[in-house]
Amino acid sequence: MLRFQIASIPVEVRPTHLLIAGYLAWISMPGMRAPEVATAVLALLGGMFVVFVSILVHELGHAAVARAYGYRPAIVIEWFGGHTTPNAPGPIPWLKDVLLTLAGPMFGLGLGVVALVGFLAVGGEWTSWGSQTMPLFHQVLLFFAAANFLWALLNLMPVLPLDGGRISHAVLTRLFGRHGVLFSQGLALLICAGLVALGARSGMILMAVFFGLWGFQALKLLAAYFKGEDRSAPPHPADLAFAQAATLFQGDKLADARRVAEQALAGAAPRETESRLRHLLGWVAVKEGRGEDALDQFGQVKTHAVESQALAAAHSLAGDDERALSLWELAYRDTRDPTLLHEWAGCLIRLGRVEEARRLPDADPVESYRAAEAVLLQRGEFEAAGRLGEQAVAEVPRPELAYNAACAFARAGQVSRAQQLLERAAELGFRDASYAQADADLAAVRQGSWFEGWLERTRVSARR
Ligand SMILES: [Zn+2]
Repeated sequence: MLRFQIASIPVEVRPTHLLIAGYLAWISMPGMRAPEVATAVLALLGGMFVVFVSILVHELGHAAVARAYGYRPAIVIEWFGGHTTPNAPGPIPWLKDVLLTLAGPMFGLGLGVVALVGFLAVGGEWTSWGSQTMPLFHQVLLFFAAANFLWALLNLMPVLPLDGGRISHAVLTRLFGRHGVLFSQGLALLICAGLVALGARSGMILMAVFFGLWGFQALKLLAAYFKGEDRSAPPHPADLAFAQAATLFQGDKLADARRVAEQALAGAAPRETESRLRHLLGWVAVKEGRGEDALDQFGQVKTHAVESQALAAAHSLAGDDERALSLWELAYRDTRDPTLLHEWAGCLIRLGRVEEARRLPDADPVESYRAAEAVLLQRGEFEAAGRLGEQAVAEVPRPELAYNAACAFARAGQVSRAQQLLERAAELGFRDASYAQADADLAAVRQGSWFEGWLERTRVSARR
């Protein structure tokens, strides 16, 4: 699998694409049948390049418009084509959806025209297509033009899941409400029937098979339309439970969210709902600091991807910062969220790679240490958190860092070290005596007269 970025749009190329690109080059490039092995290999590579670039440019059309609308598109290229996930924050308004979808074939047509002009400019001749004597460079340009025109034409067919099908569905349901399904899928069914017949008669079996499958999909949508299913089907109880659990989770009612989700899983839930419930339970476990449980739940999410930051947090909480590190990095690079940058830095600090954490651009050292300690506290590693806190104060002398380290040592039962750090916090300007007095973390330090004296000293310096 190959990953790269174009103008910060992530592109993933799966091995299945190379297979198909090779096959298409094999059947399309006349140079493949040249007697010299070197020429045949060049023809193969040239043809694969054409297929890859054509599909990439088509997908970049979708992605560029998605980006212009402020979404965060991602491209995957596999098998015969690719798909671009717009990653919009909510449902995409219909007109934007239409323009975004149309942009793919339009970019392809543009590339096709450029290739055709290039072919004519270098003195290419149509009539010699298919002959091995056509210069390889001409073969590539002509294949480029033909592939793009065909690919755009195919994609503009008003048949789901092709781009044209998305457009006709969006426009017709916009015009006719739910009756739009009747028109868009009726049209799709007619076209599919025609192309299956054509494909069967002319021996284009692959075309017949694909349009047969898509025609069947159109038939299913039509059947659902006539049954009125899209209106009358009551939601599954598990879906209702998921919605309830998600609301509880958003309101930070973690225990309630967990109870509702677990009850729903105890009954029979559709596969996708089960995955969503597991995903939610994983997040609840992350928030509750139970890394192993979170990993267990995320591992059972089958129908969609789990966010990198969720997996990173789960691994970190489970004590596996080695595994978490690259996930934190990935999560930050995908989102540019400063919180995730500090989690990444915190993970490096826990691994003892403080220098690297410091070199991350825009990472604030106080936030980085805070993130590093928070995970240790959730793991119950209080002494380690305290030691990290001491290290933080040595590096950045700030009262809140000394105070936090004192809390960690107090929870570890190391009273004298906690006292030293409280003194250090006071020295550095800690003044919030009433907060410290009520702080449950300091329970172990609060017995005895020392604490009263310390409180008094911070109060006095606060008055000065
Ligand atoms: Zn497309």
